[in-house]
Amino acid sequence: MAEYRKNQEIELGISALGNEGEGIGRTREGFTVFVKDALPGDRVRVKLMKVKKQYAFGRLMEILCPSPDRVDAPCSCARACGGCQLQALSYEKQLAYKENKVRQDLIRIGGIENPPMEPIIGMEIPWRYRNKAQFPVGWDKKGRLIAGFYAGRTHSIVPQRDCLLGAEVNRRILDTVLAYMEQYGIPPYDEKTGSGLVRHILIRCGFSTGEIMVCLVVNGDRLPEEGILAARLQEIPGMAAVLLNINRERTNVILGETVRTVWGKSYITDMLDGISFRISPLSFYQINPRQTEKLYGQALEYAALTGQETVWDVYCGIGTISLFLARRAGRVRGVEIIPQAIEDARRNAALNGIENVEFFVGKAEEVLPEQYEKNGMRADVVVVDPPRKGCDRAVLDTILKVAPQRIVYISCDPATMARDVKILGEGGYGVEKVRCVDMFGETCHTECVVLIQRKHI
Ligand code: SAH
Repeated sequence: MAEYRKNQEIELGISALGNEGEGIGRTREGFTVFVKDALPGDRVRVKLMKVKKQYAFGRLMEILCPSPDRVDAPCSCARACGGCQLQALSYEKQLAYKENKVRQDLIRIGGIENPPMEPIIGMEIPWRYRNKAQFPVGWDKKGRLIAGFYAGRTHSIVPQRDCLLGAEVNRRILDTVLAYMEQYGIPPYDEKTGSGLVRHILIRCGFSTGEIMVCLVVNGDRLPEEGILAARLQEIPGMAAVLLNINRERTNVILGETVRTVWGKSYITDMLDGISFRISPLSFYQINPRQTEKLYGQALEYAALTGQETVWDVYCGIGTISLFLARRAGRVRGVEIIPQAIEDARRNAALNGIENVEFFVGKAEEVLPEQYEKNGMRADVVVVDPPRKGCDRAVLDTILKVAPQRIVYISCDPATMARDVKILGEGGYGVEKVRCVDMFGETCHTECVVLIQRKHI
């Protein structure tokens, strides 16, 4: 194999997209190069930055001949920000990439020969879909106050008050907060020294109700002239909650555990398919509500409920899926680790007059085994919607013991989903259907629902 060295520039044809949306090319000698911002079909000049024996990471220097699938990326900071890894790829090809990622993971990791994929459900307009944004605040090199996004894998802020994935109102909110900080000399938090006050600005919008929450994450327990900030924010139509989240830790975890209401409510409300949801700043809520309705609709279809079933909703958050299921099931039980989310879940059930649900706070890997051993937990259908790391082994083992007819697996990380599917497969379950739903247009993130059925012996 030819020798490559750091800082060497080479020409390369890009033939594939990697897990994080990076372009992958191979030299004639079979040496692999990963190139951020390059797309399949591009011919590029790259500078090798980090060189290993079999592969290297290259920086895109020039596109010599663009891929036919390239489109103009409309955001001015797309490359620097790195949040939209696929912005320069046509939306149709983005969808094909996501579906293929799930298929390949099921084949390679899940050991499924021919995954039964149904066509991906794409978005009508893959922009302005996010109902939540967290903007870090800091100084730029000239000492000006900025808010924006961390550049990929770093903690330097790319200024951007109008991310095209987020709500249009974000800009006005950021302008208002930053102008207030400038006027009263309120410093942003400095990660290096641990000094300064404002760390992040968290904004959540209820797309169907129009309600807006602004939550400032502060390194302290109050802000100077809080009332003035709240009064200015109230002028924005829909403003429903102005909150402070207290985070005094030297950590890169964004939110602390304590929240104080400066003005208005301590939460906002949103609606999905006719059900109202109360959402606190600390609770997980799907960021793309329009596609969420389609995702949950698909999960419900796969659950194939008749009205009699006992269903467990594991990793239930504020009970969104639980309440969708409850309308068609006999009884639903939800499990979730964050106490505030379970408080929201219980209130959401009451708010909607849904009585056949019950929620448990705790780690799923502890609650399920305990419920199985102490209370003889049973379930006809189990729905799981775990975080990216997938299901804990104890969760899967308990599900296998409980032996439901069907498992509906909702996943935001196909690799861990495929790993779990394999374990369930060894326990007597088979994948019946798989459907991707695009929740995260312009990015490499992929969501899917899998119907897993108990095999009859
Ligand atoms: N089903 C919900 C939430 C899915 S996100 C919805 O669609 O809105 C995953 C959820 O799992 C989050 O709410 C997170 O707080 C929760 N979680 C993470 N680790 C957990 C664990 N070990 N046990 C139970 N819940 C957990």
